[in-house]
Amino acid sequence: MDKCSFCGRDRKDVDLLIAGMEGHICDRCAEQAHSIVEEEFRKKSTFDLSGIKLMKPTEIKAFLEQYVIGQDQAKKVLSVAVYNHYKRLSQKSDDDTEIEKSNIILVGETGTGKTLLARTIARMLHVPFTIVDATVLTEAGYVGEDIESILTRLLQAADYDVEAAERGIVFIDEIDKIARKGDNPSITRDVSGEGVQQGLLKLLEGAIVNVPPQGGRKHPEQKMIPVNTKNILFVCGGAFEGIERKIANRMNTRVIGYGASKDATLIDRENLLQYINPQDLRSYGLIPEIIGRLPILAHLDPLDNSTLRRILVQPKNAIIKQYIKLFELDGVELTFEEEALDYIVDKAVEFKLGARGLRSICETIMIDAMFEMPSDDKPSMVITRSYAEEKMSSQDAQRLKAS
Ligand code: ADP
Repeated sequence: MDKCSFCGRDRKDVDLLIAGMEGHICDRCAEQAHSIVEEEFRKKSTFDLSGIKLMKPTEIKAFLEQYVIGQDQAKKVLSVAVYNHYKRLSQKSDDDTEIEKSNIILVGETGTGKTLLARTIARMLHVPFTIVDATVLTEAGYVGEDIESILTRLLQAADYDVEAAERGIVFIDEIDKIARKGDNPSITRDVSGEGVQQGLLKLLEGAIVNVPPQGGRKHPEQKMIPVNTKNILFVCGGAFEGIERKIANRMNTRVIGYGASKDATLIDRENLLQYINPQDLRSYGLIPEIIGRLPILAHLDPLDNSTLRRILVQPKNAIIKQYIKLFELDGVELTFEEEALDYIVDKAVEFKLGARGLRSICETIMIDAMFEMPSDDKPSMVITRSYAEEKMSSQDAQRLKAS
C-alpha cells in the first residue's frame, strides 16, 4: 500500500498522493512544504541587506515625494536618517569611529502626514518596521502595556527573527501623550508620564531588553526573548498640542533681548512649529534624557489650501485618481472640474477636517454616482462644482460637520 513518506497517511486517507523516485507525498504535506519554502524565501529576501543597493538620501526623498506632499524638512531628515541607519548597519565592527544612531522626533499637527511618512518609508525598507502608539504604554505594575511590548511588535514584524528585529525601525506615535504635565515634576505617582519616559529611555539608549513574545503584560510563565536595542532606530511622532504657545513665549523673550522690532517681523506666526527646538519639548514635559536620545528634531508644516489641493490629486494613490480608476473599471470616463476640486478643499478647511476629511467629503459627493453608475450606460461623467454642492447639502453631509 502506498503511503505519504512525510506523514505516513495511506493513499485512501488523502485526496492526492504524488509519486516520487523513492517515496510519495500527499497533498497536505505538499501544501505545507510549499508554505515553508515561501516563508523561508520571504524572510530571506525581506530582511537580507547584503544584496540590496543602498538608496541615496535624494533617492529616498524622491520615493517619499510620490506619496507625501510638502513636508520638505521632515522628508529630508527622514531620508538622511534611514540612509545613515543602513550605513551604520553595514559598518564593520572593528571600525574605530563607531557611527551612533540618531533617533528622530517629528512634531506636527494631527493629520499632516507623520504616520504617512513613516508608512511610506516602511514600503521601501528591508528592515522590520512597526508603528506603536505611546498612549497604551504605562509603567510596570499599572493597567496598560509594558514598554517592552513595543519590541514585541517589532519581533512580530520580523517573524521572530531576533537578529533582523535588532536592525529594525520603530515608529512611536503620540509620544506627546507621555509628556509630564506641566513643568514641575509631580509628587504623586504619574502612571503615564515620567515613569514611562524612564522606561522608554532604556530602549532608546540601547540595552538588552527582555521582551514578552506575545506582548501585553509580562508574566512569570512567559519565556522572554532578549533583544538588543542598540541598532534599532526609533522615530517618534507627536502633535504636541499647544506647544506653539511655548515656542512663542520663548521667541518673544528672545526677541525682546535682541531688538524686538527687527526680529518680530520675520516670525511666521501661522507656522510656529518650524522654530521648535529641544527646549520647547522640555517645557512641554519631556524629560531631558529622552530629548537627548532623540537628537534629530523635525517639524511638519500645517496643511494650507494649496497643499490640500495637491494631496487630492497628486500622490501616486491620490483620492481623485482612485475614483477615476474605479469608474474606468466600469468603462466610464470620470472627470472632475477644477472648481469642484477647489470646493472639496474649501469644505475640508471649513469643517477643520484637514487631509483626513478629504476622503469623507469625496465619499459624500460620490456615493450616489457610485451607486448608479454601474447600471447606467453612460460612457462618461463630469463632477462639477454645482453637483458637488448639491450632494454636500444633503442630510448625510451634515454629519461630516458634526463629527
Ligand atoms: P498624522 O500626522 O496625524 O500621523 P496621517 O499621516 O495619519 O497624520 O495623515 C492622515 C491622512 O491624511 C493620511 O493617510 C493621508 O491620506 C493624508 N495626508 C496627510 N498629510 C499628507 C501629506 N503631506 N501628503 C499626502 N497626504 C497626506
